[in-house]
Amino acid sequence: MRAGGAESGATERRALINYMTRTCIEASKPMTILAGTQWRADPSFVEQNSGQAVYLFSPVYHTTQRRRHDLSTATTQGSAGEAPRPGATGGSRHARPPTRGRNDRASGVPFTSIQNVADNMLTNTSPTIRRGGVNTVFVMPNLVPPITTVKHCLAYKETLESLEPNVTFLMSLYLHPNISPETVIEAKRAGIAGIKSYPHGVTTHSDHGVMSYEHFYPVFEEMERQDMVLNLHGELPPSAGKDITVLNAEEAFLPTLLDLHQRFPKLRIILEHCTSAAAIEAVKSCGPTVAATITAHHLFLIVDDWAGDPHAFCKPVAKLPSDRRALLKTVVSGDSKFFFGTDSAPHRAETKRADRVAAGVFTQPHAVGFVIDALEQGVEMGVIKAEDVTKEKLENFLSEFGRSFYKVEDTRKERIVLSRPSDAVENLLRSADGSVEVVPFRRAKMTWGVSWR
Ligand SMILES: [Zn+2]
Repeated sequence: MRAGGAESGATERRALINYMTRTCIEASKPMTILAGTQWRADPSFVEQNSGQAVYLFSPVYHTTQRRRHDLSTATTQGSAGEAPRPGATGGSRHARPPTRGRNDRASGVPFTSIQNVADNMLTNTSPTIRRGGVNTVFVMPNLVPPITTVKHCLAYKETLESLEPNVTFLMSLYLHPNISPETVIEAKRAGIAGIKSYPHGVTTHSDHGVMSYEHFYPVFEEMERQDMVLNLHGELPPSAGKDITVLNAEEAFLPTLLDLHQRFPKLRIILEHCTSAAAIEAVKSCGPTVAATITAHHLFLIVDDWAGDPHAFCKPVAKLPSDRRALLKTVVSGDSKFFFGTDSAPHRAETKRADRVAAGVFTQPHAVGFVIDALEQGVEMGVIKAEDVTKEKLENFLSEFGRSFYKVEDTRKERIVLSRPSDAVENLLRSADGSVEVVPFRRAKMTWGVSWR
């Protein structure tokens, strides 16, 4: 069947999810990421219109593969629960491994098949959370209709937990006129982590988005009191009259960010999926209550990549080479204001090939691996140095900084192992019944494998 928007359950299908994870790359254990053929036998995979921003947090990191630059070589000890490992020392190495290798699907990979739920994108997506190296998720609220009540939010959380019990879901509300200061108090009591703002009409399911922030000042005041996080999709709507296009929509939003920060200095704010050097500078100029997430795909892409390739098109769009350089440098800068958020958005293949292309790329099944790949590429391009890519910096970017900003405990104490060689990224992901197809980001490219400990 073709899961259409009119069915019940469409809301879940359209979920936008932010994933946060506890990851670690701990030992060499070559394994494969599911190849296309294997994939097809699996009911698990992701669905359309579910954007997912993954916050991958990788505390301890080690591989013993000989690589062009072995990222396991940092000397820093891992986070809680991790024993020191002999051998995890030394500088970065430079020997690219064979890119084709093992094809065994390691049994150690948690892989949840969801049996009891009707097939839809969310059902199929959930198992790819952990596959991508993630066990903690910040769940975005832009469903249809948007999540604007605590009740709706908790019901959604329950659905997610039933789909994937081995993941911690941090929930959020959609900034909307329905949200009052009382809602904020109720949300805080219910354990909801944040409220996400979507300026009107800038991205997937932002039709109910914010026209003017002033209306929400009382809400922000209460959020500040309750210590909740405000997540910003930081783009202004396109406007020919104001010369705002996809290329400068983020930069044009930055004064709004600075203004909000000035008015509510204690309000924790995250500028989600920042894509530009200007955004990085703006976030740096703010106090410690303002942070930003960086996706995996923006570390690869520039304008030329998505101009002509719908599978690389997302919002905010990738910008200039200078912006990409700034992002890569920031990832390894050790600045705690910046951490990983995938904003991985699976869309049905047909919506990516349509006259009007859906915005979003799907990185979830290989989220952590892609970050490592991007940094390797950054080294090859001479943007960053191999020795900048340390275990400590990776852990911080992928795991610690995000958790710390969100003030969430790592209760699961899990680790992942990233290793090479691995298989190529699938050309196409297809649900078991063939009703849902998604083209993953970096299809057919080699990436790192993930297993769990
Ligand atoms: Zn967004």
